[in-house]
Formats: sequence, structure tokens, C-alpha cells
Amino acid sequence: MIDEGMSIKLIAKNSVMCDGVATGGYCSGSGITVATKRSDWFETFIHEYCHVLQDLDETYEPTEDESWGYYDAWLLGKKKLSAEAVTQCTNAIRANEMDCERRVVQLIHKYNLPINEGRYIQKANSYGLFYTVAAKYRSWYKGTSPGQIDELVDMMPREFKKYWHRVPKKFEQIVKERCFKLA
Ligand SMILES: [Zn+2]
Repeated sequence: MIDEGMSIKLIAKNSVMCDGVATGGYCSGSGITVATKRSDWFETFIHEYCHVLQDLDETYEPTEDESWGYYDAWLLGKKKLSAEAVTQCTNAIRANEMDCERRVVQLIHKYNLPINEGRYIQKANSYGLFYTVAAKYRSWYKGTSPGQIDELVDMMPREFKKYWHRVPKKFEQIVKERCFKLA
């Protein structure tokens, strides 16, 4: 990564800002930034590293209107998108994240990383479903991410769900209450 001229920033905070949205970590053209005051920061680091691998993988080229930056601008009300464009972007982001999560699991195996694979996949599934709920309510989590809520993570299977677009009612309710802080 360093050879590619990219940086790794580890920030001793609970979250870092990406496109105006608080997150556990992010990957940009210049490198990876991760918030390390979280018990799962190492997983986040590997996840973001896998986004770098996607960037370096010429077979994997999502377009601008399939990117997080595009989506976040809409989420924050800075960009208007048609319902179809939101659906298309959300689908692309879920596919992008699914590809990234599968790469994480490959790395866990390849390097025998100290990450509990089953629990990691449960969390990945909870983020995947969360993206669907976030698009529905045009909201992002406030403080507590879905991966930090055991009740949500416990609900998830320990293998990747085939789709992340069908969300159980209970899951949606907990996201509304604890991530979006809606009644
Ligand atoms: Zn990601």
C-alpha cells in the first residue's frame, strides 16, 4: 500500500468523518483512515484495506454514481436523486461491500488473522441490512453503529446472507430506535 503512495491513518477517536458522515473508517484514493477507540478497529482496518485491494483490482471498477461519495451526498441532502437512482446506487454499494467483505474473509484465512470469522460475518450482514434501512429513511447512524449493537448482530447468520435488501421488521425497528434515535 505504501508502495502505491497511500497512507494509513489511525485516529484515536470513536469515529472519523467521511464525506460529512461519521464512520469507523474509510478508504479514499489517498489511503485508509480508521478510528481506533473502538474494540473492532482492527476488523475495520482490514475491511478498509480490502477496499484498497478493490481499487487496485482492475477487474473491479464501480462508476462514480455507484460510490459512497455519491450516496453520502444524497444522504446528507446535498444532492437530489430519483428513486431509481437511489435504488441503483444502494444496490451497487451493497454489491461493493459484499465483494469487500468476502475479501476480508479470504484474508482472515490466508493470514490466520485474529478475527472471529463467524462473528465478523454476522456484523457484515448487519451492516449490509443497515445500508438498506439507511436508504429507506435517508438516515445514517448517530453514534452507535449497527455492528456495535449485539442484539442486531446476534440476529444475523454466520454465513453471508444471499441478499441484504430484505430486512426483518425487528431489525428495522432496532435500527430506527438505536441507530437513528427515532421513536
Ligand atoms: Zn466498506
